Amino acid sequence: MTIVREISGQEHEHVLAFRDEATGLTGFLAIHSLKAGPAVGGVRIQPYRSDLAALTDALRLSRGMTYKVALAELPCGGGKAVIIDHPGLKREAAMQEFGRFVEQCGGRFFTGPDAGVTAADLVQVRGTTKYCADETSPELGDLSLHTATGVWHAMRVCLAATKIEEPVVAIQGLGSVGMHLARILHENGCDLVVADIDRKRARAAAKDFGAEIVSTDEIFTAICNVFAPCALGGVISAETIPTLKARVICGSANNVLNKPEDGDELHRLGILYAPDYLANAGGVIRGAEFYLQDRKDSRASIERIAHRMQTVIELSIAQDRPTSRIADALAESLWKQSAARVGATPPVVAKPAEAGTTPRQPNIQVGVIPMPAPAPNQAIAPAPPHGATRNKPRRSNPGGVRHKRRRRRTRTPVE
Ligand code: NAD
Repeated sequence: MTIVREISGQEHEHVLAFRDEATGLTGFLAIHSLKAGPAVGGVRIQPYRSDLAALTDALRLSRGMTYKVALAELPCGGGKAVIIDHPGLKREAAMQEFGRFVEQCGGRFFTGPDAGVTAADLVQVRGTTKYCADETSPELGDLSLHTATGVWHAMRVCLAATKIEEPVVAIQGLGSVGMHLARILHENGCDLVVADIDRKRARAAAKDFGAEIVSTDEIFTAICNVFAPCALGGVISAETIPTLKARVICGSANNVLNKPEDGDELHRLGILYAPDYLANAGGVIRGAEFYLQDRKDSRASIERIAHRMQTVIELSIAQDRPTSRIADALAESLWKQSAARVGATPPVVAKPAEAGTTPRQPNIQVGVIPMPAPAPNQAIAPAPPHGATRNKPRRSNPGGVRHKRRRRRTRTPVE
């Protein structure tokens, strides 16, 4: 009941809670929108501190997916599944059960990798559903690599816009995407500072790419000119912003901003923020083009992330508004256009992945969480309308060259 009350008022089309006693599987599927096509989004596994934290993550991530696919002009909507990790989770069997649950959704939700999910997990999911990306398929390729490539396209535009000639990039998190990004940056002549709670990963980046290792706390204050968050969300906040040395923030992590207002503060300080769902769309672009549009090659589409980043920067400068607000407004408008165009199409994946599905029905209990009409004073307020901030745009960055830091800070060797 608590959860039902807490989430009421969000704009999601479907929110499902799933649970399987035998395997310890517990999680949520949030489908933000099916208006423009099937909902696509990865599955994330994390040791959430509560059911509510997991649900909140699914709600925010699925909304971000809708914005991501809208901005990338893909014929789909946003969804996200989260699974609560805990010592009693029988991982292999739980992932199979999760696959059966996805299969039951009948192509309305198509999933793939996200934080905490391994290639081995996805093999189990694919064993019981057709609606999961198969990264072992050479034609599809490694989605995390496509994501990292897209982040690089966004970052190189940010580097040019801020006239950073000797990039030093601080990477937080060297998982599936972060490690690929580290290699790409190294190949493109960037120096690296890295942190991961898994020290082995940090050591591998030091050995392979000459990265300097710092602790997971020090990464926020590292001497760098670009901060690349590639772990979890919410890391750019009122607490961390004053500690950052970077002039650019561009990484793969979803929901990087703790609150929308943090994007306003970055703008005020002249720190160029690459909106997360713009920069990290490479994987979903490849997945959607492969499964929904039968495209053989998505390199040109992923490269268009650079063009979108450039557009957002130009609008941000012209309107003196944060890149986060500009991207939200663009995504919202494209989503509405796309939903109006294809709204009549049945929202089911046209070309599911080829996988052997087991005929057995899932043991899983699925609970539909009712979504009552918005009521005043909700605990989790819906995000403010995009494209039209409640307050007048702040004239906080008036005149002069934008995206140059104005605040006093330690001099770095790369300036
Ligand atoms: P992953 O689980 O493979 O990697 C995350 C890494 O971050 C791990 O190595 C983990 O040890 C590390 N980490 C966790 N907490 C940390 C902390 N406090 N400090 C430093 N390191 C920490 O996940 P991933 O698939 O690489 O995804 C990373 C981020 O990118 C997530 O936010 C995900 O939602 C987002 N993303 C991923 C993809 C994709 O294709 N995999 C696509 C779009 C967005």
